[in-house]
Amino acid sequence: MQLVTLNDGKVIPQLGFGVFKVDPAETERIVSDALELGYRHIDTAAIYRNEEGVGRALAASAIPRDELFITTKLWNDRHGDADRAIEESLEKLGLDRVDLYLVHWPAPRQDRFIEAWHSLEGIRERGLATSIGVSNFAKHYLERLLPEATVTPAVNQIELHPYYQQRETTELAVAHGIKIEAWGPLGQGKYPLLELPEIMAPAAAHGKSPAQVVLRWHLQLGHIVFPKTVSRDRMVENFDVFDFELTDDEVAAITALERGGRVSEHPDDFD
Ligand code: NAD
Repeated sequence: MQLVTLNDGKVIPQLGFGVFKVDPAETERIVSDALELGYRHIDTAAIYRNEEGVGRALAASAIPRDELFITTKLWNDRHGDADRAIEESLEKLGLDRVDLYLVHWPAPRQDRFIEAWHSLEGIRERGLATSIGVSNFAKHYLERLLPEATVTPAVNQIELHPYYQQRETTELAVAHGIKIEAWGPLGQGKYPLLELPEIMAPAAAHGKSPAQVVLRWHLQLGHIVFPKTVSRDRMVENFDVFDFELTDDEVAAITALERGGRVSEHPDDFD
């Protein structure tokens, strides 16, 4: 597995497994499958309501804790209450620390994300989260946060796929050593991304699937990704992306697909 070094010196597997919209009742089985197939980085969140299932799968796996990388996130209604929220997440996960804890959304109408960030700095200081970061922080939220922050976020987890690349936000993050985690790396299956010639042609050339080409594009651009699937076959497919390399021209053709095609809410409108 390819590892990425964060700005705090910690390392994260560049490819993981996301569990957004994984049914809580199915989560233990699905995460157990992912762990069995080699995934070691799991991305969950308090709002996904499946932290218990993730925790049960981790406990059942007997994989040493230091080989796992577990992310969870602070939900929008807990910006003033992060110290209790992380305790609740840790209890559900059955862990005494997570590897990465994120402010899930800036939630601008509440306007408490800087307060939340300071709480995460304390949580990191106390060792309850090894690294801390943000999510859905478009450029103007990073610009507000960074001058106030004692700890620079290690990551910004944002919607990012070929149709929606958030270049301004990405450039600012990179300038501050903040790694980009691309959520919805496959566009959540909401676009016919996987049928586009810019993706099908390299897939045919490399003997790979369109999804593998899109994931490879992310990896070559340095994004951290954790595609979600409940299918074991697709788990295998999505993990099998380290034995080929897109050419510079292939990467450029996929990058040129940008069209402002967001699949989910804009952070300005989401509390
Ligand atoms: P995704 O782009 O990973 O899309 C998932 C969908 O893609 C699946 O439901 C399936 O339909 C399809 N798919 C998966 N593998 C495939 C394959 N090999 N071939 C064809 N289709 C395939 O979208 P996502 O789940 O939204 O994003 C991944 C993870 O990012 C989530 O599980 C979650 O952990 C995280 N996330 C974070 C936020 C946030 O606000 N921070 C929001 C959404 C998701």
